[in-house]
Amino acid sequence: MVNETTAQETAWAIASALPDPEIPALTIAELGILRSVELMEGVITVSITPTYSGCPATEMIKGDIETALRDAGFSAVAVRLIHSPAWTTDTLSAATLEKLRAEGIAPPHRGQAPHCPLCGSSAVEQIAAFGSTPCKSLWRCITCREPFDHFKCH
Ligand SMILES: [Zn+2]
Repeated sequence: MVNETTAQETAWAIASALPDPEIPALTIAELGILRSVELMEGVITVSITPTYSGCPATEMIKGDIETALRDAGFSAVAVRLIHSPAWTTDTLSAATLEKLRAEGIAPPHRGQAPHCPLCGSSAVEQIAAFGSTPCKSLWRCITCREPFDHFKCH
């Protein structure tokens, strides 16, 4: 019989290290998608919050967690979706926002247009409501002329 705390900690370490399918530079823990890992009646129960309802990445994340934990020897795994409190970009840490910028993705900027992640210019225009994934919109910098993704606010 494995110690419960150890099992939970091991499962958390595995789940929290999984990259986000849409932004592989960031883990699902850094993005605040991973909420909790608990051992409930012998079942490792992982709670995740979708970045927004209908995000196609959610099913992928669910599968990734189940596979990673089963590979690590956890036979009973359940992943449940938590919709409340809703996921918000407000919870992202400064370090996470900096990682997004380093990836060339303009971090969420509540209530105003993003700044160009390459040159920092605020002279930007939106090209499309959806970028490389539905979670992002596509913008172009007027100053350096480079297109960039903007991680949308929720
Ligand atoms: Zn620029």
